[in-house]
Amino acid sequence: PEEIRVYEFAEKINKPVGEVIKELFSLGVMFTKNDFLDKDSIEILADTFGINVTTVNDQESFDYVKAYDEEGEASEQNLVERAPVITIMGHVDHGKTSLLDYIRSAKVAAGEAGGITQHVGAYMVEKNGRNITFIDTPGHEAFTEMRSRGAKVTDIVIVVVAADDGVKPQTKEAVEHAKAAGVPIIIAVNKMDKESANPDLVKAQLAELGITPIDWGGEHEFVPVSAKTGMGIEDLLETILLQADVLELKADPSRDVKATVIESSLEKGRGPVATVVVQDGTMRVGDIVVAGIAFGKVKALLNDRGIAVKEALPGEPVVVLGLSEVPGAGETLINVKSDKIAREYAKKKAEYLRQKELSKSTKVSLDELSDMI
Ligand code: GDP
Ligand code: MG
Repeated sequence: PEEIRVYEFAEKINKPVGEVIKELFSLGVMFTKNDFLDKDSIEILADTFGINVTTVNDQESFDYVKAYDEEGEASEQNLVERAPVITIMGHVDHGKTSLLDYIRSAKVAAGEAGGITQHVGAYMVEKNGRNITFIDTPGHEAFTEMRSRGAKVTDIVIVVVAADDGVKPQTKEAVEHAKAAGVPIIIAVNKMDKESANPDLVKAQLAELGITPIDWGGEHEFVPVSAKTGMGIEDLLETILLQADVLELKADPSRDVKATVIESSLEKGRGPVATVVVQDGTMRVGDIVVAGIAFGKVKALLNDRGIAVKEALPGEPVVVLGLSEVPGAGETLINVKSDKIAREYAKKKAEYLRQKELSKSTKVSLDELSDMI
């Protein structure tokens, strides 16, 4: 019932279907009028067209997350500060990868076991004795990733803009997505080492999009940086921590774990491997978990440097081994009481996905048929 097609949505909000499709296209996603809208797209559209929508999560699909949420409240007295989770977005070639690499290598002691050679979906760095978690997924996937994970796991978005190139289409998209997700934005004005850097132009262009710098009377931090020389990177990390203070990010490590899958794959010799970021509770080796269609007893946990750890705290990224399947990115992982429950939830989820696929293909072809008559 909460499933809605593009044309149905357009009818409901009294807009031509073409306008809705155009809007979606400008956000970088292709929809035809018969496609079902996902929850994130509905929320973004609602924001764009200035309407209120309430989306209802599918009962069966999110059953287990609901069960977790009802199980126990985080108790006020157990709440502790957790690391902020950061996603970096921006136009291609503006320096997302360079920035992530610079931050990671500058903060990881040389020669440390595991090193930083292998790719991880998320990593954590320390600044002023506090932790910051960065999500590091391939640049071209940043938008879809953000869409699939929604605001579930990102606390702050850093939009990187090259000072020698200014605001570009994907800069606008990044701003739109962050706004729609209601996530605070910090602007990293990158490539400041370049002769042709023009940070004032970047400020003016972003002010036009409603992202006005603090020194111009607005409320957005613009941090000049260079991913090449490292200039301004410490300032950027400090700005993140200040923003995190405003957000008052807290979690209860004494609860059962709730985490979000950032990345997953099937690895030779290791089986299904998932990188998750813990949102609440503590994740431990031996936990019985379910994540979408995957379940299992956590065999091992590896930190972002590939080192085995016993547990992972709220805000921390960790690689999970021991799952039955490869869970989808964006799935919520929770700890459950028994293997039986874990299997049951995973089975329900698989059944739900099958039904959804089925209804989608049959409904769409019926609609297309009636269009042709
Ligand atoms: P991405 O597509 O946003 O991930 O951008 P990359 O990190 O791949 O960077 C694109 C190009 O810009 C690469 O050739 C980088 O070496 C270069 N680059 C990135 N940051 C800087 C910077 O701060 N200064 C200079 N001079 N070049 C940079
Ligand atoms: Mg890149």
